Amino acid sequence: MGRTFFRGANLIDGLHRPKANATVVVEDERITAVGTNGRVPKPTAQDTVYDLNGKSLMPGMVQSHYHVAYANISDLNDIDMKYHPTHLALIAAKNAELLLRSGFTGAVGAGTLHNIDVSLKKAINSGLIPGPRFMPAGRDVVTTGDSVDSHPAFWNLRMEGLAYICDGPDEFRKAIRAEIKDGVEMIKLYPTGGHGLPWPIETMTMSQDEIEAASNAVHERGRKIRGHICSKKGIKAAIKAKVDLIDHGDRMDEECIELMAKNGTFLTPSMYFPWMVVEENKRSGKVMWDEIEGMSRGVDNFAKMLPKANKAGVKLLIGDDFGISIMPHGDYAKELEAYVEGAGISPLDVIRWATVNGAELMGMKDELGSIEAGKLADLLVVNGNPAKDITVLQDRDNLEVIMKGGEMFECQLSPSKAQLKAA
Ligand SMILES: [Zn+2]
Repeated sequence: MGRTFFRGANLIDGLHRPKANATVVVEDERITAVGTNGRVPKPTAQDTVYDLNGKSLMPGMVQSHYHVAYANISDLNDIDMKYHPTHLALIAAKNAELLLRSGFTGAVGAGTLHNIDVSLKKAINSGLIPGPRFMPAGRDVVTTGDSVDSHPAFWNLRMEGLAYICDGPDEFRKAIRAEIKDGVEMIKLYPTGGHGLPWPIETMTMSQDEIEAASNAVHERGRKIRGHICSKKGIKAAIKAKVDLIDHGDRMDEECIELMAKNGTFLTPSMYFPWMVVEENKRSGKVMWDEIEGMSRGVDNFAKMLPKANKAGVKLLIGDDFGISIMPHGDYAKELEAYVEGAGISPLDVIRWATVNGAELMGMKDELGSIEAGKLADLLVVNGNPAKDITVLQDRDNLEVIMKGGEMFECQLSPSKAQLKAA
């Protein structure tokens, strides 16, 4: 099979300023050459050439906080009581395809039910269903009475689908080893309340020794660990325990930023959820979610802190709680706008969070995330320039090519006529 040439691209490679009139060559699953103004191999009759005429070429994005099996959730009990597990698995399969169709060629789980992430990864990798590269999460690992432990005792329900309820370091270790045995690669803890959960933001629902036992058990077996962590106290506790990824971080300050930068801790601010709720409230007076006051504080703090975190070199990521009722699956790219509009981050930096940083979280820094010779060809051709207007990514019709590992998942372009004649 011949090579694929993309010519005349506005190249957004994830690392540098955009370059005009670039050529990128793909052979099998990898990028084999990148150049501007013709300094690349010439196509032969066997190759397929697409002339982009200034359309943008960028790396596929990574959704780093993904609940693939969340569907239409307006209440915590909706997470695990609304749908039968098999129905949820079907929803998850549709969402995985939708995520890929939205330009995300990678995903990292942030908590799932019935081990759906692991099954989904296997189904995608065996070619059964289309979907992104997947780093699977498992059950939420929580303590008795944590926000996620929401079912009253008299219902006599257990939480096998959704959560492991652990008290004391030993129970954490046991739960995490069982999760890893089940194929989970990203463990999810809930050390604090806040960011939409019933416990107040300042409440720790997990002790330091529990967080450390969990983190050590995860790292012993070479996996990663993330936590729903919103308060400063929680962030410091997690960094001390060497947790890899802080989810939300609503109350972070300069000290937290310094610690995260120094320790290489990842952060998914997932600011779209509170930003959207607060913006809608300003616009129409509508209260889409309780706790609007706390969310508003979180959004104000992000607007101040995210530019500082970005500048300090904190590894920021894209990913949010899509699947809750007011935030349907498919709206993924709207999150990128929240950082540009709500926190004044440049579109190029937000694209870097979605690509280079996401690839590093997946442990694939050398394989993915940027457009360089030798890397896997996870690419998007975008009708428009997301480096100037990040919202062009929100319209799936603008994603004219979606390529994963050199394979076209979507291609609205026709090969160059000149090349066809040469063939
Ligand atoms: Zn979440």
